[in-house]
Amino acid sequence: MEIRNFENTKLRPVWDPLTDRECNVPYCNVQITTFAKYIQHWSEIHVKKIMVYVCIACTQRLEKRERAMQHASVVHRKERDENNIENIEVNNYKYKSDYGTLPYRKGTALERKAIYEREKRKAQEERKLLKKKVEEDRGFI
Ligand SMILES: [Zn+2]
Ligand SMILES: [Zn+2]
Repeated sequence: MEIRNFENTKLRPVWDPLTDRECNVPYCNVQITTFAKYIQHWSEIHVKKIMVYVCIACTQRLEKRERAMQHASVVHRKERDENNIENIEVNNYKYKSDYGTLPYRKGTALERKAIYEREKRKAQEERKLLKKKVEEDRGFI
């Protein structure tokens, strides 16, 4: 699926898997666990037009291509192939504005490594502080 905003690669913020756990569109608040799920969420919710798959025999609309082909073969006993379905673009009834938000991008290997290193350092610092606190509490210092 074509997503216009996804073309502005340089401007888009790099997704930080450790801290960016929600969709970055204001008021969306959808939890994101993986980048793939985020992209899927964005393409289902934050785009105005989506593709649907229409059964040529009965004009029923289905969201997924696979389901449409399955429908044609089960209901109409047709061959399971793309000639029995048609793709059309329709308004996305689930659409929620992105308020001009640029979607996250995955980042290069180097950018991801920098995030990982930063978090590793932070975790080490925290462990050091915790250790110190425990020692203080026990009266070792
Ligand atoms: Zn969202
Ligand atoms: Zn049908």
